[in-house]
Amino acid sequence: MPQQRTGAVKQITSHANPIVKEIKGLVAQRKHRSQSGLFVAEGLKLATDALEAGWGVRYLALGPEARDNPVAQKAAATAKARGALILEVSTAVMSAMTRKDNPQMVVGVYEQNMLGAKDIDPTGTTLWVALDRVRDPGNLGTIIRTVDAVGGAGVMLVGDCTDPFAVEAVRATMGSLFHVPLAKMSKDEFKALAGKWPGTVAATHLKGAVDYREPDYSEPALLVMGNEQKGLEDDMAAACPTLIRIPQVGQADSLNLAVATGIALYEIRRKHLEL
Ligand code: SAM
Repeated sequence: MPQQRTGAVKQITSHANPIVKEIKGLVAQRKHRSQSGLFVAEGLKLATDALEAGWGVRYLALGPEARDNPVAQKAAATAKARGALILEVSTAVMSAMTRKDNPQMVVGVYEQNMLGAKDIDPTGTTLWVALDRVRDPGNLGTIIRTVDAVGGAGVMLVGDCTDPFAVEAVRATMGSLFHVPLAKMSKDEFKALAGKWPGTVAATHLKGAVDYREPDYSEPALLVMGNEQKGLEDDMAAACPTLIRIPQVGQADSLNLAVATGIALYEIRRKHLEL
C-alpha cells in the first residue's frame, strides 16, 4: 500500500499515481478491500453521511465540479481535519478510479466497520435481520437501506455472503450503510444467538405454515431470510421457531429477496411506523 499522507491536499493528474491504483484495486477486488480494511463510496451524499456518522475516512477525491460546491468543500474540510488526504483530481482520473464514464464529483475511501456475533446485544433494540449467504450486492444494499428506513438495529451476515463493501452494494444502500450496523458470523454463531434471542425469531420460508401477517411480533424481533437461489438452509430454519410465508397468487415461484424482506419488515414494524 502506498505511504499514507494525512491531513493534506494533493493534486493528482496521472492515472499511474499509486493512490489512483490503490483506489482502483478497492473498487475492483474484494481481496484488496479485505486486506486493507478500506472501501470506496461514490458521491457527495454518501461522503456527508459517512462523515456525519463518524466513519474513518482515508481519502476524499474531489473532481473539478466539487471545487465550487460548498457542501463538497465542507466535507473536504471535515475529512481533512480528521486526517484524510484530500485528492484534487481531473474528471479523467476520477473516471479511471471508479471505472465509470460519468463519475461522481466526490469519491471517498473509508475504513470498514464490522461487528461479530459476540458484539450483538439485542436488549433494548427494535429488530435485526439475518441474511443466510446473500449473494447479490444489490439485494444486500437494498435490504440495508430498508432496515434503516424501518428503524431496525442491524443486519447479520451469516455464512459466505457477498461483500457489503463492494461498490454496487454500497451504492444500493444510498448512504444507509453508514447508519446500520453489520455483523458477520458463522451459521453456528447465528444458531447460538437465535437460541437465546429475547423476542420473536421468524424466518421467511416458501414452506412456511404461518401467514406473515399473523404473528404478534415482539421486540427485539429477529427476521431471518434465505439465499436467493437455495432459500434458507434446513438447520437454520430449524433454529427459528416461526416460519412465515408471504402469500402469492400468480405464476412467480417466489419473491425477490429484498422485496420479501421489505414486506416482512414493514409488517413487523407496522405498529411503530407513522407518517
Ligand atoms: N428457490 C428458493 C427457495 O426455494 O427458497 C427461492 C428463494 S427466494 C428468491 C429468497 C428468499 O426470499 C427466501 O429464502 C425467503 O427468505 C424469501 N422469500 C421470497 N418469497 C417468499 C415468500 N413468498 N414467502 C416467504 N419468504 C419468501
